[in-house]
Amino acid sequence: MKRAVAVLSLLIVAMAVFIVAQARHVPSRLAHAVAVVAADSVAAAPRIAEQPATTASGEAGLVSVRSSTLPAPKRDLAEIQRRLADGESGTYIREIFLQREDNNARWPDRQLEPLRVWVQPSSALADFHGSYPVRAREAFERWTRAGVPVAFTFVVDSASCDIPVVWVDKFDMPISGRTRWTRDQHWWIIGSSIEVALHHQTGTPLEPEAIYAITLHEVGHVLGLDHTQDERSIMAARVRVHDLSDVDERTVQLVYSIPPGSVTKP
Ligand SMILES: [Zn+2]
Repeated sequence: MKRAVAVLSLLIVAMAVFIVAQARHVPSRLAHAVAVVAADSVAAAPRIAEQPATTASGEAGLVSVRSSTLPAPKRDLAEIQRRLADGESGTYIREIFLQREDNNARWPDRQLEPLRVWVQPSSALADFHGSYPVRAREAFERWTRAGVPVAFTFVVDSASCDIPVVWVDKFDMPISGRTRWTRDQHWWIIGSSIEVALHHQTGTPLEPEAIYAITLHEVGHVLGLDHTQDERSIMAARVRVHDLSDVDERTVQLVYSIPPGSVTKP
């Protein structure tokens, strides 16, 4: 009986050590992450006047490029332009192209080999709630349901993930989330990471629904979307809604209906 108690105690201590290690572990790739494409804010209240997306314009130029061994996409410019002409109505795809010199950025199809997402499972930060990692995973799944040929799987080992999601206390600027990503020479997206704040810059805790909304927005960036002026969409620079709009869904479907790279040059 004593032995059973000792074994149980040992197990509990081991679990505690594991949890603390997980909470403290920030993936090393974040330390030298390269591209900031998005730094986002949640509108504290609808009555706050819309502000220009000042964070978006300066960042587009910071997208980092790293060559990869991924195969070049099959590209037929006439076919790309035909699909855009047929599908662009009711989307903000032209707003995205304006921000990246008429280039489409996307992941290769990843239905059979889902992208591995690691969501930081716990945090010692004030106001962290155990439901946040659950909601973060839901945010990824929400985009897959929008009809994107990219599936996600959630891994427990941050070292082997494609996309780490980490919680931060707050940013030193008026934003609530940030996504970094890297693309290759073909405009395939090859890496990404997300940071989500628990507090506004002022220190006020973000509401759980705001944290979910900002995570949804950041996953949109991970998939290759950029900001829209349309406030009813989750990809508005200042997030005002808590779900994808039909416009978000049509836009991401169109992004994934054409190959990566220029939509104006062969
Ligand atoms: Zn954004």
